[in-house]
Amino acid sequence: MRVWRNFHMTRLTDSVRAPALKTPETSLLRRYADLVGRGNVRWDVPLAPHTTFGIGGPADLFHRARSAEEFCHAVGTARELGIPSFVLGRGANILVGDRGFRGVVIRCDITTLEFAPEGVVVAGAGLDTFPDLINATVARGLGGLHHFVGIPSTVGGAVWQNLHFLSPAPARERTMFWEEFMESATILTPAGKIRTAPASYFRFGYDYSIIHDTGDLVLDVRLRLEPTPRAELRRVMRENLAWRDNSHPDLWLYPCAGSIFKKIQGIGAGRLIDECGLKGHVHGAAGIFHKHANIIVNHGGATAAEVRVLIDLARTTVARETGYELEIEIGMVGEF
Ligand SMILES: Cc1cc2nc3c(=O)[nH]c(=O)nc-3n(C[C@H](O)[C@H](O)[C@H](O)COP(=O)(O)OP(=O)(O)OC[C@H]3O[C@@H](n4cnc5c(N)ncnc54)[C@H](O)[C@@H]3O)c2cc1C
Repeated sequence: MRVWRNFHMTRLTDSVRAPALKTPETSLLRRYADLVGRGNVRWDVPLAPHTTFGIGGPADLFHRARSAEEFCHAVGTARELGIPSFVLGRGANILVGDRGFRGVVIRCDITTLEFAPEGVVVAGAGLDTFPDLINATVARGLGGLHHFVGIPSTVGGAVWQNLHFLSPAPARERTMFWEEFMESATILTPAGKIRTAPASYFRFGYDYSIIHDTGDLVLDVRLRLEPTPRAELRRVMRENLAWRDNSHPDLWLYPCAGSIFKKIQGIGAGRLIDECGLKGHVHGAAGIFHKHANIIVNHGGATAAEVRVLIDLARTTVARETGYELEIEIGMVGEF
């Protein structure tokens, strides 16, 4: 059996060259549209509005899959036809190339949400963690996810990346991770099987879960949250949002994809870029954020090519001046 996965996204460590992609034949794309229902797909859809960076060319096909069944059918159909596919969440951790994506982008839009006794919550992979999931859990006096207030993500993206934040406020002595609240997840395996995987299966790390390597896709997660006084939840949320306001870009003003480079323990990728004098540096309409040098922002109409010039500049300058190698954290999607 051919192994397939949610592919055509690369984490490039040696350079920011994009891989050559094989263009799927239009007849195969038409066949895909027939099999999933022509009314469920759109052709030639610009991806920029589907990302927090606001950057990216068109996808040949865009399919918003609104249930687990539709999502599994979409992914399975792309696999059967051998069409490149990319599973999109909130688009908050990716840079899409200016030439877009050849194949089908499947937006995971499984937004189910159920509450069970003893703090158990089952959430669909396409649900936005904030505001939807966090507000719903806080309204029921359930604590845990409130630490991640203000971070753009879907549930599936949170599993992919093991969402994290320096909390609880006000001490902020440790990083809290998504894995601390997840008991298990329902996944679609590369072999097309649906199964429940315990949290231990995901081998969570910093910005990492095993699905980076296996190609498993998340359908929903089961979380266990702590009954907590609502006033306490709201206090932490207020403080976290205020802290974020001081150091992170407001997405309305500064579209971006969060941290571009991986954390360098005890040193900080942003600090190294700042020490090299690159904070605020602009290329075209892309710029290194003036408050946080590990973030590149779109000042309005930036291209992926401009962002990549800044990525290259930061990497080569930091390597030359400090000897540290910056590794790219965000995913590069499609053709550049
Ligand atoms: C302003 C800003 C601030 C940020 N701050 C933080 C922060 O404090 N902490 C932090 O951890 N991150 C932060 N990020 C990064 C981002 O929020 C997270 O990485 C988030 O989890 C991305 O989720 P997403 O749904 O947008 O995923 P996407 O960007 O859409 O996709 C990322 C990856 O997840 C995969 N994926 C999506 N859905 C599924 C699924 N159902 N099954 C399997 N794979 C899937 C995609 O295929 C892709 O490979 C920030 C980003 C921004 C823009």
